[in-house]
Amino acid sequence: MKRIYPDFTYSDAPRAGCWWDHTCDAPDRDALQGHHSCDVAIIGGGFTGVSAALHLAKAGVDARVLESRYVGFGASGRNGGFCCLGGGRLDDAGLERRVGVEGRTEWRQAELASVAFVEDLINQYGIDVDRHSDGETQFAHRSRDFATLRAEVDRVGEVYGLNARLTAAADLQSEGMNAGFHGALTLPAGFGLNPRKYILGLAAAAEAAGATLYHGSGVTQITRSGGRYQLATPAGVLSADKLIIATNGYSSEDLPDWLAGRYMPTQSSIIVTRPLTQTELGAQGWTSGQASYDTRKLLHYFRLMPDNRMLFGVRGGVMATPGSEARVLRRARADFEHMFPAWKEVETPYSWSGMVCVARNRMPFVGPVPGLPGAFASMCYHGNGVAMASYSGGLLADLVQGNEPKQIYPRIVQRPLEKFELGRFRRAVMPLVYATFSLSDR
Ligand SMILES: Cc1cc2nc3c(=O)[nH]c(=O)nc-3n(C[C@H](O)[C@H](O)[C@H](O)COP(=O)(O)OP(=O)(O)OC[C@H]3O[C@@H](n4cnc5c(N)ncnc54)[C@H](O)[C@@H]3O)c2cc1C
Repeated sequence: MKRIYPDFTYSDAPRAGCWWDHTCDAPDRDALQGHHSCDVAIIGGGFTGVSAALHLAKAGVDARVLESRYVGFGASGRNGGFCCLGGGRLDDAGLERRVGVEGRTEWRQAELASVAFVEDLINQYGIDVDRHSDGETQFAHRSRDFATLRAEVDRVGEVYGLNARLTAAADLQSEGMNAGFHGALTLPAGFGLNPRKYILGLAAAAEAAGATLYHGSGVTQITRSGGRYQLATPAGVLSADKLIIATNGYSSEDLPDWLAGRYMPTQSSIIVTRPLTQTELGAQGWTSGQASYDTRKLLHYFRLMPDNRMLFGVRGGVMATPGSEARVLRRARADFEHMFPAWKEVETPYSWSGMVCVARNRMPFVGPVPGLPGAFASMCYHGNGVAMASYSGGLLADLVQGNEPKQIYPRIVQRPLEKFELGRFRRAVMPLVYATFSLSDR
């Protein structure tokens, strides 16, 4: 494996303090042992891979997931649980320049469909995910950003067909949203969930439908012979007609070689408080259970969960060592105290980090891997994959079977990933990018 961060990033250390691991038990699964054969082999046991496995198994396909560690080890088991619109970074003008108005509409409708897709899965398989929040709320961190949010109301109506609701700064207190913001915009789409309960529920549904999931089965080599893929793992080999790559921010440059230089893992980090008392909530004036984020480029995302713990996330760390990891978590704590000064003394006993993934063209890719017949990939959800990765797994299931996708398959995600500059040294540009974002957030 050739990964672009040091081993620390891919170890247990960055996720050691993850709150979700304390919320429910997870089953053990065997590693692949010996030689096996199947229709479709899937590398990666997160939302993308497990959703693909579930949808393939439902169609009667023998689908097997090879996961290096365990289901949900990657971003899918340690994210903020915002099931929301997103997945790409291009704005409407950028989308239109590349794929026209029709292509832009397709993408925006796919975003909406991805949230509904997760909702359907949760309902269909009875997955208890501690759901809360009525849509999502974005908060203006400067007064000029409230003007931008005001202009968003019409855009949101036009591109999503949704009625967005503005809240003026003066009304935030009465809505239980007192954190020094300059107003807010609420979209009636999206909700908060416990990502561990969701990925484990999805995995159980996939197994019940007939899929096989292996733990401790990191793929170390992909070869092709006799028109089939051979995937080498530490204790076995899986041979398959078709292949799905679902490794996102935990990908390697050589699995497959085509990926080299085409994805950029970046860090997101979270802290979680102990349950806040009613007195503490009242003292701050924050009682809202809305899934929330602010207008910063290096955004903060936060939500008061059903058990009154506040989850608070930041983007922009460059995790490579225990020292840099500790620094970003200190910054998260300082930002939390700045936003919620009444909770300065409230402990945040849980904190962790993980890798999201961005693309050179700022949009996800879902489609065939160039040069590898029968191999497909889906990745680069730009830190918003709860809904979009689940949805893309469904798309992959159709693509790999050669079926016309049942879901909207936006043309913008059909463009293969482009190469970043600087090849395997590409992450060196990230500190500069973050510094620029940080300046523009002031
Ligand atoms: C801290 C954090 C907060 C986030 N918050 C949100 C949020 O609130 N809302 C939202 O929408 N998105 C959020 N995201 C992003 C979201 O979690 C991801 O986009 C999504 O989980 C990606 O799913 P995935 O299945 O593609 O990849 P992952 O879940 O990362 O899974 C990839 C898997 O591949 C495995 N793997 C890698 N290489 C191999 C190999 N060679 N062999 C076998 N297995 C391999 C890894 O072990 C890993 O488990 C967040 C991410 C992080 C890290």
